[in-house]
Amino acid sequence: MLCLSDNIRHDDPLVQRLLCTVEEAHTLPELVLAVWSLARVLAIRLVESVLAERARRPTSWPRCPQCGACMRSKGFVKRQVLSLVGPLQWQRRVGRCPQGCETPQVAPLDDELGLQPHQRTSGEFQSLGCAFAVFVPFATAATLLGWASGVAVSPQAVWKWVQAAGQRAMEQLHAQLQAAAEGHLPPEEPLAAEVAAMPLALGADGVMVPFRPEGGDPRGKTAWHEVKVGVLARLGRHRTRTGEMVARLHQRRLVAVFGDIEALQGRLWLEALRQGIRSAPQVVWLSDGARGLWGLFEECFTAYAMGILDFYHAAQQLWKGAAAWLDGRTSNARRWFSWARHRLRHGKPDGVLADLADALDVEGLPPTARDTVRTVYAYLQRHREHIDYAKYKELGLPLGSGMVESACKWLIQQRFKGVGMRWSEDGFNHLLHLRLVWINGRWEALFDLALSPNS
Ligand SMILES: [Zn+2]
Repeated sequence: MLCLSDNIRHDDPLVQRLLCTVEEAHTLPELVLAVWSLARVLAIRLVESVLAERARRPTSWPRCPQCGACMRSKGFVKRQVLSLVGPLQWQRRVGRCPQGCETPQVAPLDDELGLQPHQRTSGEFQSLGCAFAVFVPFATAATLLGWASGVAVSPQAVWKWVQAAGQRAMEQLHAQLQAAAEGHLPPEEPLAAEVAAMPLALGADGVMVPFRPEGGDPRGKTAWHEVKVGVLARLGRHRTRTGEMVARLHQRRLVAVFGDIEALQGRLWLEALRQGIRSAPQVVWLSDGARGLWGLFEECFTAYAMGILDFYHAAQQLWKGAAAWLDGRTSNARRWFSWARHRLRHGKPDGVLADLADALDVEGLPPTARDTVRTVYAYLQRHREHIDYAKYKELGLPLGSGMVESACKWLIQQRFKGVGMRWSEDGFNHLLHLRLVWINGRWEALFDLALSPNS
């Protein structure tokens, strides 16, 4: 400690004051926090000295975009940026066109450092603030960021970074969708060999989100709109401690859109290509009865995937049929339902369909009951290819779309449906796309940063 204090500058009163705080710290947390403050100040000094050294190197000036003359230095100008270690300040050369063109001034060092002309906070700082905001409200994110960095940040600042980063994520996605639509296939995401050997599961669902009625205006009645979510994952098998085999998702990827089914379709197809739909040993589509989603399956995925209608959903339909045909209050209805459910589950869907067809011939069935039975029959008949549950079980595939639904709900529920929360369309979209970037493991790529300790 004393050796360190001798080595750092004695003429810097801030450093001397912080050194005293370190000496006076009693508890371990106090000591760590005091040293952390000191370390931040030393980090600022270090970064600033590197920047000052780089600023003094010869500058290679670009040409004026208007007249082509080489830009010329107008001398050193101060630059300030807020960073994870605190506020940074340095001087660097700026240049203008010697011919007096109206082109904006240039700062080659800013470009080398990856700084935009009016950027006031550094990328690693914004990235951390955005990462907090992916999970907690903006005000909480600002507080957490203040604790982590020792710099006070407003919730509005975090909100702005989220808007900018979310916009960037959306633009990248649109470019990828455009490329895929023009026939440029995206590269497949690399997979470990054992994961690549697992079946690929796809599914989609809709989740309601509370929006502000008129864009940014917070007044008025909440408008609920459906956000469509798709999930893609490799289906692993995992033995629990009690010896039971359960499905476990690997390489889970989500897509989502506040838009129509076609918008979802493009996103789902793009991600399916990335997740190796064309090379996966087996592909399954899991969904409940929603018609639009099965239409999407028919249009995009039948050539690759086996469709599975959620078993619990199919069973619900059976109960509807039983209740209409045999009167839901009777034990007859319950008895037929259990028997039909059992047969459906164990590979006899045609027997169940035959029973329902017979019910349609029963004389004296009231017309409304007959309509219901007919609807249930038509529904199961339409999904005949998707209700071979015994086969799916044998292949080790799930019978329900529960994991699809829970992934979809989690994406939205955890962050967008807190008490009193209502979203503008832009605000929602930007945060949604950042959340997707996070969940899909593409955060560091979006911010062009290596953040993980061992990366
Ligand atoms: Zn010029």
